[in-house]
Amino acid sequence: MAVSLDMGSVASVVDDARRGFVEQFGGEPTGVWAAPGRVNVIGEHTDYNDGFVLPMAIDRACYAAAAPRADRILRVHAAQLGETVELSLDALVGPGSAADTRDAADPDMTPLTEPAVTGWAGYPVGVAWILQQAGFPVRGADVYLTSTVPVGSGLSSSAALECATALALAGVSEFELTTAELARHTQRAENIYAGVPCGPLDQMSSAFGQDGSVLFIDTRSGEVKPQPFDLAAENALLLVIDTRVSHAHGENGYADRRSACERSAEFLGVRALRDISLADLPESFAKVSVGLGETFARRVRHVVTEDARVEQFVEILHQEPVSLPRLGHRMMQSHASLRDDYEVSAPELDLAVATAVAAGAHGARMTGGGFGGSAIALVDRDLLPDVQDAVLAAFAEHGYTEPQFFPAVASAGAHRIA
Ligand code: ADP
Ligand code: MG
Repeated sequence: MAVSLDMGSVASVVDDARRGFVEQFGGEPTGVWAAPGRVNVIGEHTDYNDGFVLPMAIDRACYAAAAPRADRILRVHAAQLGETVELSLDALVGPGSAADTRDAADPDMTPLTEPAVTGWAGYPVGVAWILQQAGFPVRGADVYLTSTVPVGSGLSSSAALECATALALAGVSEFELTTAELARHTQRAENIYAGVPCGPLDQMSSAFGQDGSVLFIDTRSGEVKPQPFDLAAENALLLVIDTRVSHAHGENGYADRRSACERSAEFLGVRALRDISLADLPESFAKVSVGLGETFARRVRHVVTEDARVEQFVEILHQEPVSLPRLGHRMMQSHASLRDDYEVSAPELDLAVATAVAAGAHGARMTGGGFGGSAIALVDRDLLPDVQDAVLAAFAEHGYTEPQFFPAVASAGAHRIA
């Protein structure tokens, strides 16, 4: 699926969304809502282990221009695909209906076996469905979606789409969603309706994002602590290197890692791997090695050390002056752990990371679920051309798809923009 990577200014994307709405549906939208993608700076594969993450919302977003309708029809148009889905809100499955096949004991983690729509439309329709399920008075609406978040690059285009849709539906239906409700319900929509077993990281990042901050999130308590992240003051930036590859085994890989974590936690008698401390790790590693095998033990080691690295990264952010080399070192450790212990990297990501650092980046790592997608590099501004050139040359030499680069700027979370 080709998604335009032309950023344009925010004002022009908002104009595009309005104009697109008018062309598609006729009439004017009553508002435009925007929800950003994210990069996770550190803390990967910890969010479904009740652990710590440190994402930031980025200056690329999904925009939803919308207007209410007098009837119960929901129409959603996806500009990048040129496709429209239309259905009655009353036709969405409800509690107790034959089509709601979820396990009553664990309704949040059982995907629907027969959602009314699948594919891309499952994301926005799932949002309408979950909001209705939660008791919000969703009105019929026309929603025009256009996004500057590259799709499937590990920058969370799906959460951006969901959060923009949820805010637009709340706006045209005239009900309030708190930021926490926005994050929670959009995650549930993705888990249940789209059938993707993601943790809370993506939707929380899009909902809670703040200009100039990374978000230190405890995914167990749901507490979000924004941390100042002013790389410009350090003459540095966070460079996204989108490898534009997505390896086919990624989907199974994610589910497999997730279940390995759950089995290990159960075996160790803890609620989640978050409950294993760094001090407990040697003993837990040995136990899991014997009981479940060495591969499981390495999965545990990644999660436990990654949680610790997030806390260390935040500590370094609070030191004056902030040491970019020390931050970079934690990123390198995170990447090595994801590559060697968790085994979710990809040759393209390893090459991007190694090349960026050899060209002078303070550190780099894969970001997002892995198996392709994007890497991020912490780079001094004056070295940016060198790093980009080196990565381009290395990819060309290996015969890989040409990567794409853009700086990630810590940005505001989902909000009404017009
Ligand atoms: P990501 O890391 O980008 O979130 P996912 O696989 O989780 O990757 O989600 C990508 C999916 O989300 C796409 O395949 C598509 O179904 C949907 N999606 C994201 N952005 C758009 C968009 N602009 N228009 C239509 N669908 C989109
Ligand atoms: Mg996603």
